Amino acid sequence: DSGRLPLMAGNWKMNLNHVEAVGLVQKLAWTLSDKKHDPQQSEVVVFPPFTDLRTVQTLVDGDRLKLAYGAQDLSPHDNGAFTGDVSASMLAKLACSYVIIGHSERRQHHGEDDTTVNAKARQALKAGITPLICVGEDRFTREEGRHIAHVVEQVNGALQGMTADEVGGLVIAYEPIWAIGTGQVATPDDAQEVCEAIRATIKDGHGEPVANAIRVLYGGSVKANNVAQIMAEPDIDGCLVGGASLVVEEFAAIARFY
Ligand code: PEP
Repeated sequence: DSGRLPLMAGNWKMNLNHVEAVGLVQKLAWTLSDKKHDPQQSEVVVFPPFTDLRTVQTLVDGDRLKLAYGAQDLSPHDNGAFTGDVSASMLAKLACSYVIIGHSERRQHHGEDDTTVNAKARQALKAGITPLICVGEDRFTREEGRHIAHVVEQVNGALQGMTADEVGGLVIAYEPIWAIGTGQVATPDDAQEVCEAIRATIKDGHGEPVANAIRVLYGGSVKANNVAQIMAEPDIDGCLVGGASLVVEEFAAIARFY
């Protein structure tokens, strides 16, 4: 037993209207409680759009739901003339436990690089929010056999200048771009290979206790029917789930993989 609490994270992306978001959170909580979900077996976190966070906070507060929540992005700056951005302290006021940083869609559509990811992760840490940092190669990089080197470089870039304590508390998600939203899940062996390399990179840079503490997730077309195989791998501590996190029964089953 690794001693690491599995983490099942649902990234809603830019989906659902506000009423649907409320309904999804409530139904998810009911379903988990109905199925006697044990929070000692997996931690469940949802990542709604910014505009739903205040309401999700109220629901979670009011109902003692066994759910955590976070934001899908944050600004690398403290405050100021950054129209449209949302700061770490704003998210902290909404009691976000987590924030996704460097999702491949942000890297692709918003030009985020490892320097941006590092700056955002530091902002989150400063505000007491756990960064969930995404890394992963595209199909071309994998076909060329450079996926490990690519991911290791992304991890080192993201963690630049962080203390061992900071690194031990964060979460890294390995999300091969070719597996995201494609239905083409990585094989458990392929996912394990990269997650193991991520942990080895942490060990090199920050020592074994930190490497043993950090949670490494897999993401990319995770569904109820493939989660068990993925979770059987020793270096995979949870999943980042996109499409399937919008379907209550599916995501509840993923959370109840154990
Ligand atoms: C994601 O966007 O983080 C993701 C893994 O998406 P999907 O589960 O839909 O492949």
